[in-house]
Amino acid sequence: MFSFLAAGAEGAGVNPWVALAYLVAGVLFILALRGLSHPTTSLAGNRYGMAGMLIAVVTTLITHDIANIVEIGIAIFLGGIVGFTIARRIAMTAMPELVAAFHSLVGLAAVLVGWAAYLNPGAFGILDAAGDISPVSRVEMGLGIAIGAITFSGSVIAFAKLSGKLSGSPILLPGRHVINLGTLVAILVLTGLFATAAASGTMPLIVALTVAAFAIGFLLIIPIGGADMPVVVSMLNSYSGWAAAAMGFTLGNTAMIITGALVGSSGAILSYIMCRAMNRSFISVIAGGFGADASAGGGEAREARPYKQGSAEDAAFMLKQAENVIIIPGYGMAVAQAQHALREMCDLLEEQGVNVKFAIHPVAGRMPGHMNVLLAEASVDYDKVFELEDINSEFAQCDVAFIIGANDVVNPAAKTDKSSPIYGMPVFDVDKAKQVFFIKRSMGGVGYAGVDNDVFYMDQTMMLLADAKKMVEEINKSLGH
Ligand code: NDP
Repeated sequence: MFSFLAAGAEGAGVNPWVALAYLVAGVLFILALRGLSHPTTSLAGNRYGMAGMLIAVVTTLITHDIANIVEIGIAIFLGGIVGFTIARRIAMTAMPELVAAFHSLVGLAAVLVGWAAYLNPGAFGILDAAGDISPVSRVEMGLGIAIGAITFSGSVIAFAKLSGKLSGSPILLPGRHVINLGTLVAILVLTGLFATAAASGTMPLIVALTVAAFAIGFLLIIPIGGADMPVVVSMLNSYSGWAAAAMGFTLGNTAMIITGALVGSSGAILSYIMCRAMNRSFISVIAGGFGADASAGGGEAREARPYKQGSAEDAAFMLKQAENVIIIPGYGMAVAQAQHALREMCDLLEEQGVNVKFAIHPVAGRMPGHMNVLLAEASVDYDKVFELEDINSEFAQCDVAFIIGANDVVNPAAKTDKSSPIYGMPVFDVDKAKQVFFIKRSMGGVGYAGVDNDVFYMDQTMMLLADAKKMVEEINKSLGH
């Protein structure tokens, strides 16, 4: 049925139908990214992405000499079942580590494809007239393997740190900048030598290149502290895209080049946005080990300081009196799944004439857009949801700043304490609000960065110590009366 696609696919020129199919897939991927940029269009965006991927995979399968279509079918089926099961079971709060784990697979796939092309170049059509792998293909192969290996080992470390299997605090090797720079230079030199060496002498070079790239992935991510992990996740996302694009060149597959470039560049843009949100420099992220010197604060014994504790009834009473309330959700809201109860609280307050807004920090929760997804799931109106820079000036006029499961994103130490690991990150000015309600489970718990928070002890702060969902449900009961 698809003979018009297959005809000429292996020939000298590119079959125009194949080029067209890949182009359509590429356009669908771009539409997917555009759709995913807003909650209202994100479902359509996902569908565009799925359609594009289907077109790309089917086109590739029917236009290439597939050694064993049954084996490929079984692999796709098994992989599909594993992916489907993981996606169904995974908690939203564990999403960043899942993303890191998936990135590691993309990196590993790039390394394996590179090695397969090296060991069997004829099957990949990359032999030149003299029967050697052409220098251009060797450069592509070397870069693909290097970026893939860095993505793999870096993602494994990110996964271990995010899932708590490895300490979130920076692990600092002595002379790490010199070691990192030396290893990077070695990778570039080895790629150059691999591209130009006689065919018989390339094996030790590609082995050394692969080992050095695996090592630099570990070395780059190990010194990065927990609070900077959001940037690492989006940066590895970008690396995995570039690894795929490099492999697309080796395989001569336009769809892979387009997809890899889209993932690589969108990941890089997201990294840049995250860096800006956390006030980190993009160059220091790429160099690795940023935020590593600021290790103070995490895990120290904290002195007991006086604070005020209130009940759901107290909170409900004061909320009813308020004119303007700003809700700041964070990771704890996601853990407690309190978004539906929170929407109900918002409705009850609005019925009583209170003006309610939501303030979302770019790194609140554990993945970019985490809070937006949860609030959208609970059908909170998008026009009530504001970004940090759009709402921060309003805290001075607000009666109640209602912090629910957030901590680092409201910590004033980011503005005042140079030794704090979050120093420099823009945070909400909740200290300017007339009254602050702070929901968390206990005074002992800390945020992701592991530091104490002066907001707990401010005169205008009332601590509401309980599970976020339970506390909001109690407040709703009191508001209903
Ligand atoms: P934090 O991690 O700073 O704080 C979470 C708060 O929620 C804690 O105070 C915790 O206190 C409380 N909490 C936990 N469970 C519950 C519960 N069931 N009910 C009530 N409260 C609960 O969250 P933020 O959202 O403020 O900050 C995000 C942090 O995560 C930043 O440091 C960011 O850099 C980092 N990060 C962000 C990523 C992203 O892409 N968004 C990715 C990786 C890291 P207690 O235990 O006492 O209840």
